[in-house]
Amino acid sequence: MTRFIDVADIQQLVSSIGAEKFITSLAQYIRADYLRWEEFEKSARVANHVPGGVIELMPTSDRTLYGFKYVNGHPKNTAQNMLTVMAFGVLAEVETGFPLLFSEFTISTALRTAATSALMASVLARPESTVMALIGNGAQSEFQALAFKSIVGITEIRVFDIDPAATAKFVRNIAHIDGLTIVQPQSVREAVRGADIVTTVTADKNYATIITPDMVEPGMHINGVGGDCPGKTELHADILRAARVFVEFEPQTRIEGDIQQLPADFPVTEMWRVLSGQVVGRESKEQVTVFDSVGFAIEDFSALRYLYDLAQARDIGAQINLIPDPANPKDLFQFVAAPATTLTHDNQFPVSPMGLN
Ligand code: NAD
Repeated sequence: MTRFIDVADIQQLVSSIGAEKFITSLAQYIRADYLRWEEFEKSARVANHVPGGVIELMPTSDRTLYGFKYVNGHPKNTAQNMLTVMAFGVLAEVETGFPLLFSEFTISTALRTAATSALMASVLARPESTVMALIGNGAQSEFQALAFKSIVGITEIRVFDIDPAATAKFVRNIAHIDGLTIVQPQSVREAVRGADIVTTVTADKNYATIITPDMVEPGMHINGVGGDCPGKTELHADILRAARVFVEFEPQTRIEGDIQQLPADFPVTEMWRVLSGQVVGRESKEQVTVFDSVGFAIEDFSALRYLYDLAQARDIGAQINLIPDPANPKDLFQFVAAPATTLTHDNQFPVSPMGLN
C-alpha cells in the first residue's frame, strides 16, 4: 500500500509538532542530505513554460529512495483566487520502484523553501544578524519569517509588498509570535536600510529589480527566493557582480536563478561545499553574500523523507491502493476482467464496467 498524505494530514503534523520546530527538524534533514551530495543522481528540473507560468518536474534519487515533485509557478493566479505555487510529491523505493508515499506538497514546499533559506543564511549571514527585510508578503512569507526566527535568530522583520493587503495578512498571521517584532516600512528602500538580511520572495514573471545596488550595504546577506525561472529575476545584476554568490545545483541555477543575467563563467559556489566545510562561505564581515535560491530536488527529497518518517511513526495519512497487487504479478488483466461490482480497494465505491462512477 502507498501512504497518502493530504492537506489535513499536513496540518495535523505541523500543528502537533509546532511550525518552528517542524521547520528546524526539516532543515536538519535537508542539511544531512546536502552533506551526502555525491550520493545523489542530479539533474536540472524539467520545465514546461506555458503562457503566464511554468510547470515543473523535479526528480532525484540516492541508492535507496527516489523522489519527485510536480510544481507550478503562475504569478497571476492570485488574481483569480488561486495559489501561485501548487505541488504534490512522491517518494518511492529504488530497489523495486514501488511508490511509498504520495503527498501534499504545496504547504510542504513553503516549509522546505523556508528551511533551506534559513539553513543557508545560518552559514552565510553575519552571526550577529537580527534584522531581516522581507520583500513580498504572499504565501511563502510567514514560513520564511518563522524559519529565520528559529534557525538564524532574527528578532525584527521589516515587511513590504506592493499589495498592502498581503502585508496586512502577514501581520495578522505573525503578530502573536513571541520574539518577533514586525515593522512596516513604506518602501523597499526603507525596509532594506540597515537590515542584516534581505529576503526577496516576490512573484512576477519579469526581469524585475526589486533590489538595486544603491540599497545594498556592506555585510548584508541577500536571500533571493523569487527569481527562479527564465525571464523571472529580482536582483539587479550589479548586486551579483559585487557579491559572493551561492547556488543549490549550478546547472539548474544558471538557467533559472538571478545569475541567468550573467555570463556562464560568472563564479558561483554550490551550497553543499559550504555546508560540508569544503570551502568557507562568507570571507569577511563586509562581504555581501547572495543565496540565489531556485529550489532544488534534494530539498523536496529531504522533505518527503521527513514526512514519510513522521507519518509512519504516527500512522498519519491513509493507506491507498495506488498500485495493483495481483496474486500473480503477470496477471494484470484480472483487474479489467473482474465483475462489474468488484471493489477496487477498501473504502472505495463499486466500479462500473467502464470504470465510470
Ligand atoms: P504569492 O503570489 O503568494 O506572493 C508574491 C507576493 O509578491 C505578492 O503578494 C505580490 O504582491 C508581491 N510582489 C510582486 N511584485 C512585487 C514587488 N515589485 N515588490 C514587492 N512585492 C511584490 O507567491 P508565493 O507563493 O509567496 O511565491 C513567491 C515567489 O517565490 C514566487 O516567485 C515563487 O515562484 C517563488 N518560490 C521560490 C521557491 C524556491 O525554492 N526558490 C519556492 C517556492 C516559491
